[in-house]
Amino acid sequence: MCAAVAAPLRLASRLALVTGGGSGIGRAICQRFAREGAAVAVVDLNDSAAQETVKLLSRDQPGQEHANFQADISSSEHVANLMSQIQAQYSRPPCISVNSAGITQDEFLLRLTEEAFDAVLKVNVKGTFLITQAVAQALVASGASHGSIINMGSIVGKVGNLGQANYAASKAAVEGLTKTAAKELAKFGIRCNTVLPGFIATPMTAKVPQKVLDKFAGMVPLGRLGDPSDVADVCAFLASEDSAYITGACIEVTGGLYM
Ligand code: NAP
Repeated sequence: MCAAVAAPLRLASRLALVTGGGSGIGRAICQRFAREGAAVAVVDLNDSAAQETVKLLSRDQPGQEHANFQADISSSEHVANLMSQIQAQYSRPPCISVNSAGITQDEFLLRLTEEAFDAVLKVNVKGTFLITQAVAQALVASGASHGSIINMGSIVGKVGNLGQANYAASKAAVEGLTKTAAKELAKFGIRCNTVLPGFIATPMTAKVPQKVLDKFAGMVPLGRLGDPSDVADVCAFLASEDSAYITGACIEVTGGLYM
């Protein structure tokens, strides 16, 4: 077995915004970014969960301040307030943004309601749009010379999945939105990439029946479901200058599922 090595400090003095930071993949990203030296603005609908995340974050670097913010990313008013609060707290915009907030409302296509379709698109697509636009606007207005925007898609957006027509459509839309943002924002030094997790063990997948999870685990070439830290590792790479020549990419974190 390899000995554990300390995370490098690739994000020292950076400010990172992470939505959905109160749970699952978003929380693991906050933890990884903090270990790499970033100050983290932890955003979630569930403020007590975001507060819990803040308590878990390392503060080993000088001036490394973390804070929790409650916001519904699907509301333009909430997102505008969020950006004002972050500016007031940190006196600068986040140069790293990860939109990990997302929801599912699963049902087979023949029974999927219009309400469930709209609800999932509202958070996963409109929310991603609002956060991407707000961060990009703040970075451009501040004259920042670089930024990294990372949006959470899903492998399901590429291959579809039983009972997830609304979710698969929303995650395919996240890819198109992020690639367009990458093209438009490259001239400002802002890189935009999508991460496509496979099946990751989080509260979101805890809703899936165990026999279905076991079936998926059996299909994964690497032989296990993913851990939130597997996704966080890739986000830390995309947030850092180690990925300086990568934009508009969709990186699969699936253990090889559907390759
Ligand atoms: P999770 O554990 O359910 O965490 C999602 C977090 O987002 C929750 O804290 C949730 O708060 C918050 N949230 C939901 N709606 C929000 C809104 N409108 N505004 C702000 N925050 C909101 O999910 P996860 O498994 O970590 O998933 C994170 C991201 O990865 C999602 O975009 C998901 O689609 C994507 N993904 C996950 C998997 C997987 O296997 N887990 C696979 C592919 C892609 P509440 O608890 O209050 O709702």
